[in-house]
Amino acid sequence: MRDKIQLRALAKINLGLDVLRRREDGYHEVKMIMQTVTLHDELELKRTKEPGIRVETNLPYLPTNENNLVYKAAKLLKDEFDIRDGLTIRLTKRIPVAAGMAGGSADGAAVLWGVNQMYDLGLTPEELMERGVRFGADVPYCVMRGTALAEGIGEKLKPLPSMPRCTILIAKPGINVSTRFVYENLHANELRPEQHPDVDAMIEALERGDLQLLASRMGNVLETVTEPLYPVISSIKQCMVEKGALGSLMSGSGPTVFGIFRSRSAARDASAAIRSAGLAKQVYLVTPYNINRQRA
Ligand code: ATP
Repeated sequence: MRDKIQLRALAKINLGLDVLRRREDGYHEVKMIMQTVTLHDELELKRTKEPGIRVETNLPYLPTNENNLVYKAAKLLKDEFDIRDGLTIRLTKRIPVAAGMAGGSADGAAVLWGVNQMYDLGLTPEELMERGVRFGADVPYCVMRGTALAEGIGEKLKPLPSMPRCTILIAKPGINVSTRFVYENLHANELRPEQHPDVDAMIEALERGDLQLLASRMGNVLETVTEPLYPVISSIKQCMVEKGALGSLMSGSGPTVFGIFRSRSAARDASAAIRSAGLAKQVYLVTPYNINRQRA
């Protein structure tokens, strides 16, 4: 048993995102390639004598009650294992919020991982993933991390060969795009076949370890909704490609855009260009997180 634990919750990008259909229950069936990146939130879990869960965060607009996924994760394990101690969760957000980077799910996954460690609960990663899906479709993937194919509503996961080494530039424009709005305005059935990304072709590029081929095949069907509405997304993509990105894409339901670069200095130049053109203030240089190298 440990009194305190520090964790990193890593963000994800989607190298590919296709929506296959809308289910009767309103959920969408997806086919996505998920990639963990080194951009992360920081969490500290601390055991306290007073019972209950307290959440503290550096972003005053975030919920600190059961609407925060860190709260949900802690409550789920506390209830199941009858943990009576209190828990203080200090969350330092760095991952852009509501941006298509699964920041909340990553935080929830990190808390599942952390509470399991703190209290020696002995749950396997698969058992944590089973619990995670109860409060978020992306949580199981955030427990698993790395490069993966996600199907179903995002919870059916299959590990893929690691993404080749590269630099990834992430830019979050100062607009807010609701995930719900994007899915509700996606008319998947009316899309032409070429508007759907070829996720299998991306998997083949990963199997070959070919970064350029992968970048050229990336695609996100949700851009059909967001790009016409928010031209800043296209402007960032264009800027990244002009500055040498092998490919550039919106992540998740946006509005975050990322670009894949072979050279870190080209990515740095693109970052400066995006800032000076006023396209985005939140800009980050990161790398793919490879599960086989080490757990953060
Ligand atoms: P996804 O990529 O899964 O669509 P996202 O990046 O769009 O996720 P999040 O940053 O995870 O979205 O959060 C979306 C909303 O969830 C926020 O507006 C916030 O109110 C709520 N939320 C709950 N817990 C958290 C958390 N720990 N961090 C950020 N947002 C949280």
